Amino acid sequence: MKKTETTAAEAYARQTDESDPLARYRSQFHVPKTSQGEDCVYLTGNSLGLQPKKTAAYVQQELDDWAKLGVEGHLHAKFPWLPYHENLTEQTARLVGALPSEVVVMNTLTVNLHLMMVSFYRPTKERFRILIEGGAFPSDRYAVASQARFHGFDPAQAITELKPRAGEETLRPEDVLETIERSGDQIALILLGNVNYLTGQAFDVEAITRAGHSKGCKVGFDLAHGVGSLCLKLHEWGPDFAAWCSYKYLNGGPGALGGCFVHERHASRSDLPRFSGWWGHNKKTRFAMGPTFDPILGAEGWQLSNPPIFQMAALRASMEIFDEATMPAIRKKGDLLLEFLERELDRSRRCRIITPRRSAERGLHLSLKFQGRDTQGLVSEFSKAGVTVDFREPDVIRAAFAPLYCNFMDVVRFVKVLESHV
Ligand SMILES: *Cc1c(COP(=O)(O)O)cnc(C)c1O
Repeated sequence: MKKTETTAAEAYARQTDESDPLARYRSQFHVPKTSQGEDCVYLTGNSLGLQPKKTAAYVQQELDDWAKLGVEGHLHAKFPWLPYHENLTEQTARLVGALPSEVVVMNTLTVNLHLMMVSFYRPTKERFRILIEGGAFPSDRYAVASQARFHGFDPAQAITELKPRAGEETLRPEDVLETIERSGDQIALILLGNVNYLTGQAFDVEAITRAGHSKGCKVGFDLAHGVGSLCLKLHEWGPDFAAWCSYKYLNGGPGALGGCFVHERHASRSDLPRFSGWWGHNKKTRFAMGPTFDPILGAEGWQLSNPPIFQMAALRASMEIFDEATMPAIRKKGDLLLEFLERELDRSRRCRIITPRRSAERGLHLSLKFQGRDTQGLVSEFSKAGVTVDFREPDVIRAAFAPLYCNFMDVVRFVKVLESHV
């Protein structure tokens, strides 16, 4: 019999997959197939996470209750709709390291950023700047620019961008702190994408929060690429707020509901302006339909509308998996996956990794540059070969490893495809 040739990398991958304590979760997701019926190597979980198999049943439950009960479902559905969002509170709090009263699932990410800025971007003539990272996600940029304009400031003056040093791709942590130290007196709000969507760089939330607060700035984080990829301790680290979406690593489905964190210290502040709606009103008196807003203490007080139950049902399915698998275990596997990928890419010398090398400075995707190549063309070639990665302007390919359904053989298969096309 002819011996099959197995590379050392492949042997490592098979062995590590076999002993992986999270391996069993992969079969709980629908993994897209290639035309040959094989599982795709799905490396775009940071763009749209895969569908848990039990999502359909969770959504169906609510459709059935609606069909059977009509309006009575608000009180008598298996999971009554009136307090439905509370089903997500405990898991969400554990996921981001917060008190239950500090988190709420509501709206979508950009909407929540605006709601948070209404409360926490309070510019004055002397202090009106917003500090963001250069190359922030466009929606965040549009949001902060429109907030500055809304308050009568010119975004060109109000927005300060953190830029990497000449010839470098990512920010040095010490440069971020130095900027805050130097110009913090003029900064009303620090708002960073953690993790940066393009470079994969993660910032030190605790250190930045401390530096910002010592200068009197408000500090918020956009956790679109951090939630479900980083072990977060938001309560302890103390930023004023954070917001995220749930369709990326959290697998809540396209357009899933976002989440929001408001630190406990703001829970009962009545001096903070906020945009209000009836779902943020005291639950005991909400249906008294009185004219005066009485906010729920904590993050729930920022809710506006009664929420979309089907979307919440879908998110529940996924959040239960996260809660069972636990974030430390997910992150641990993610670190191993990225380290393995990094080793293989370094060995094959086909591309440059621009994401920081240290675990503490990155999320769960690596951003790659292929000098002199039609990068976008490569993405479609990879796709034909069963590997789903994505392209981000101007010249970056992102490969994300969602530990709940990606495995070590995915690294081997990705690198093989990459080597045969580059
Ligand atoms: C994905 C992403 C968004 C998307 O915003 P939505 O309001 O959910 O459409 C915004 N900001 C960042 C940093 C993102 O990564």
